[in-house]
Amino acid sequence: MGKNLTSREQDYSKWYNELVVKADLAENSAVRGCMVIKPYGYAIWEKMQTELDRMFKETGHQNAYFPLFVPKSLFEAEEKNAEGFAKECAVVTHYRLKNDEDNKGKLIVDPAAKLEEELVVRPTSEAVIWNTYKNWIQSYRDLPILVNQWANVVRWEMRTRLFLRTSEFLWQEGHTAHATKQEALAETKQMNDIYAEFAENFMATPVIKGAKTENERFAGAEETYCIEALMQDGKALQAGTSHFLGQNFAKAFDVKFATKEGGLEHVWATSWGVSTRLMGALIMTHSDDKGLVLPPKLAPIQVVIVPIYKTDEQLDQISEVANQLVKDLRTKGISVKFDNRDTQKPGWKFAQYELQGVPVRLAIGPKDLEKGTVELARRDTLTKEFVEMNGVVDKISALMEEIQEALFTKAKNYRDEHITEVNSFDEFKEVLKKKGGFIAAHWDGTSETENRIKELTKATIRCVPFDRQEEDGACVLTGNPSKGRVLFAKAY
Ligand code: AMP
Repeated sequence: MGKNLTSREQDYSKWYNELVVKADLAENSAVRGCMVIKPYGYAIWEKMQTELDRMFKETGHQNAYFPLFVPKSLFEAEEKNAEGFAKECAVVTHYRLKNDEDNKGKLIVDPAAKLEEELVVRPTSEAVIWNTYKNWIQSYRDLPILVNQWANVVRWEMRTRLFLRTSEFLWQEGHTAHATKQEALAETKQMNDIYAEFAENFMATPVIKGAKTENERFAGAEETYCIEALMQDGKALQAGTSHFLGQNFAKAFDVKFATKEGGLEHVWATSWGVSTRLMGALIMTHSDDKGLVLPPKLAPIQVVIVPIYKTDEQLDQISEVANQLVKDLRTKGISVKFDNRDTQKPGWKFAQYELQGVPVRLAIGPKDLEKGTVELARRDTLTKEFVEMNGVVDKISALMEEIQEALFTKAKNYRDEHITEVNSFDEFKEVLKKKGGFIAAHWDGTSETENRIKELTKATIRCVPFDRQEEDGACVLTGNPSKGRVLFAKAY
């Protein structure tokens, strides 16, 4: 049927690419590094958006929208941020095409339509937004500003992979303004916590919360907090980031506020984002060699019903039962599809829904009608059983919770088994090569050492975990003193 995937064991990266395409999530486009997100993939992204959006609003944030283009002079204003993103910027220089007189039917850029000032396609929106906040903020009464935008951004990435790293990606970016440093830091922490809660409760993806080192920090940030997940091939994935921007953008854009006490001070800022990369994290955390495995809370179709029949009469009888089941499941808030297409055989449908990760499949045949049963198959365990039609709705309701939890537990066990403490550089290299995963090691706190380890092993410091224990030790590379372990890994 052409549905067989390369196995993870054979070639993990190939498995991932095939899965994304065959499960109908996304495909490459005419533009290098930019993807087409297909309806099934987009439906999952929409579910993610809905939950995140709710969580943002419950913590007082509002959505707004800012332009795609950033005038170069604004982009330059915060120097570190500009420098950090400069190498990945797409720039608009002209605003018109015209007919090519030497080459009929072709268009050329009209040299007369050169923009006075180039426009950078936003790789992130701090510049545009802080240039706007300048007009919104005069006094402490105008603070805090708690704004989020759902948008696309462009970073001209050289090595791209569907969802994980694309040149254009969809994301949300929160941008907040505060009167005090403490308040901004608390916001940075709160949003990182929300990302972790979303990853664990909805994606069933366990994450480690921590701070980035200076090397890995967002350009223009004083602190970057992150959530780090582990994929099934032992590589880490940065799944979300939350930045404490200090007063850097307020200074660059001259955003000051009159304090309660009558002074004038620069505003404190944060920004935070998660992107369509989360789709990659979701896929790589749970899926297997048969295809996608989706946690029920993010599955666009939670239950599919497939009729098994030979005659039209049988189909009619099965449809009657199935349609009632659809109604009952929907009443319980469960999304269900009755696939009664006669253009595909049941076997084809089974393989298709397996590939697309539908958590529960029900099959109903003439025998089931006689016996009052239904065949129930679980995607995560690939187990099948006959269950009584009576009470099947309650059973499925409970199963949704059970599967959600089972996926999280399985992923967490895998993740926990792949955090290894090492105490020498030889051990470090050996674990990285043979086992992968996170390596908890002492580090002397310098960028030089971090860079050297990266050169030697390709592993980077994923984060300094918030919950790490204070522990005197010696850096695995230099032997210099260290106050606690940090997590290294090869990462996407
Ligand atoms: P940043 O603004 O660099 O902190 O990134 C915000 C979020 O977008 C993080 O969760 C990143 O993992 C994610 N991200 C960064 N670059 C890309 C990319 N090229 N494709 C998809 N997601 C990305």
